[in-house]
Amino acid sequence: MSDINMTIKQAYDLTFSCLRQNGCNEENAAAAAFRLTQAEADMCQAHGLFRLPWYVGGVKSGRVNGSSKPSVKRLAAAVVKVDGDGGFAPLAQQVAHSPLADCARENGIAVLALTNMFHIAAMWPEVEALAEDGLCGIAVTASYPYVAPAGGLRALFGTNPMGFSWPRPDGPPMVFDQASSAIARGEIQIAARDGRQVPFSAGIGPEGQSTTDPEVVLQGAQLGFGGYKGASLAMMVELLAGPLIGEFLSFEAEADDAGLGGPPKGGELMIAIDPARFGDAKEIIAHGETLFQEVLKQEGTRLPGDRRFQSREITRHKGINIPASLYEEIVSLRG
Ligand code: NDP
Repeated sequence: MSDINMTIKQAYDLTFSCLRQNGCNEENAAAAAFRLTQAEADMCQAHGLFRLPWYVGGVKSGRVNGSSKPSVKRLAAAVVKVDGDGGFAPLAQQVAHSPLADCARENGIAVLALTNMFHIAAMWPEVEALAEDGLCGIAVTASYPYVAPAGGLRALFGTNPMGFSWPRPDGPPMVFDQASSAIARGEIQIAARDGRQVPFSAGIGPEGQSTTDPEVVLQGAQLGFGGYKGASLAMMVELLAGPLIGEFLSFEAEADDAGLGGPPKGGELMIAIDPARFGDAKEIIAHGETLFQEVLKQEGTRLPGDRRFQSREITRHKGINIPASLYEEIVSLRG
């Protein structure tokens, strides 16, 4: 399959104009285009332009509010709520950043309930942004039922990711962001699109059979990482990003979609922690560095997030590549 190379700016402009032509106002199109392009820049293609047709479908179907105006409310001293007004997550996440960071600086810790929004993608952009502001960040979200509970055969939990960030004195923060499934759904979809196999650990077929065929896993159920331990983490995420903040569980989000096949509607829970409220922030961050140094002394290690930061440097100079078929699809959607 041939690829089209473009600069990050060209990718942003293409995405922005496609969203504008398909019912998003300027603010929503800009926020979503920034997020999709950011994922491409970090070579996280599963959350990149590959998702754009899904975004367009969501607005065209009338389910997603392309002109949403997210609103911010303080529910308690350390609890902030942002209602996404039925729009795409990136604008609500952008609007939520400063109120959450300010609330964490006031209280030492703050919790954010992000609700009523569509298509919450990767967790690293929002936790990385908190760490860039000197805060530790945690973010979790549920999605559609893709993962079987431990011992079960039917998909019930989302692939429910967890992101965590820790600021570093020089250079980018330490950020990990991982699904509670053995592999992310987007990776299985891309493997199916590209005719590649997936590991046996990825999931099971509809009758519970072992398989490496991504199409069969997509018809069956994905598996949690580490057996029952991953399943319990997925359950924790369901509860925190669902009932706690008044949002859907994954199976409720699927029922709400009613077979339309658009991006999932739901919520995200974030926690921001200000080290400066626990003591001397510089000393705390420097103490964390001693752990990273010990990790990196061991051959074969790297810090989570470093692959993305290196990818960002490469794409800044060389641009990004997307499949020609995807490029043509986006151009035809843009009209
Ligand atoms: P990966 O398994 O690719 O990576 C998980 C984390 O581990 C990353 O932070 C990665 O850092 C780090 N990592 C990978 N290899 C190493 C290593 N050798 N040493 C140290 N750290 C390492 O991610 P997933 O497939 O689990 O998830 C991919 C994305 O999909 C995430 O962004 C997640 O949020 C998203 N997702 C979203 C869902 C949703 O419903 N919205 C559902 C599920 C997943 P690095 O990035 O530097 O490689």
